[in-house]
Amino acid sequence: MRLQVENLSYSYGDKKAIDRIFIHVAPGEFVGIIGPNGSGKSTVLKSIYRGLTPDSGKIMIDGEDLSAMSYRKSALKMAVVTQENELPFDFTVEEIVAMGRFAHHKLLDIETSEDKLIVNSALKYLGMEALAKRSYIHLSGGEKQRVLLARALAQQANLLLLDEPTNHLDIRYQMQIFDLIKHLNIAVLSVIHDLNMAALYCDRLYVLKEGRVVDEGVPEKVLTPKIIHDVYGVHTFIQKHPITQKLSITFLPEKQD
Ligand code: ADP
Ligand code: MG
Repeated sequence: MRLQVENLSYSYGDKKAIDRIFIHVAPGEFVGIIGPNGSGKSTVLKSIYRGLTPDSGKIMIDGEDLSAMSYRKSALKMAVVTQENELPFDFTVEEIVAMGRFAHHKLLDIETSEDKLIVNSALKYLGMEALAKRSYIHLSGGEKQRVLLARALAQQANLLLLDEPTNHLDIRYQMQIFDLIKHLNIAVLSVIHDLNMAALYCDRLYVLKEGRVVDEGVPEKVLTPKIIHDVYGVHTFIQKHPITQKLSITFLPEKQD
């Protein structure tokens, strides 16, 4: 699955949220979007998962124009986990994960035994088997997040879009989820808040500031003290970690004695 975003712009009313954005994700690539609050990260993802219609620009999936694609077809191609994990009705965990199979069926089709297997293995993958019959609304934030990831996996799409997928999770689950996603070997475009996680897991990064891509490239190119200072206004000390061989970022307090 190849994703190409070309010259994408969107305004909320007269406020420009994203401005002429270019992003591409190659098959199997894990690409991160970083940038401060309000820089347009979620708006980029929303445009791709068709949560809004861009004012201009083009989104292509495997060379096909997304705006001309049926919603069902785009749901077969991409799975999404956003930050909004509240649902209006109560379902069990397993019912929610089974929703990931909807795009594979015609309306009112019966769930097949293959669907059940896929749902069960997605639950197992995320360590949620024991919670299968539990009601979703009573789960903790982190548990909900894992259920929604399981639903995305059950969808078996080859492009995964994630908006801060681990923001409710403790460090063990954060690493587990990123490891798991990495091993899926599908195209991933993820907004990531934690720059050290971005350095550990992403093949390439896009840096957004005020609705524009201001830098892009491998973490070693993008995660420099200068760029981080320009974008976030904080000082850092950055080194290659001796064990992971990835960049490790330490944030420095403003005043040091
Ligand atoms: P990020 O995900 O990087 O924090 P967003 O894409 O959510 O940024 O927002 C980009 C800009 O658009 C921000 O200035 C934000 O306030 C504005 N914005 C986002 N959603 C809406 C909305 N529904 N209505 C009006 N403005 C919005
Ligand atoms: Mg956001």
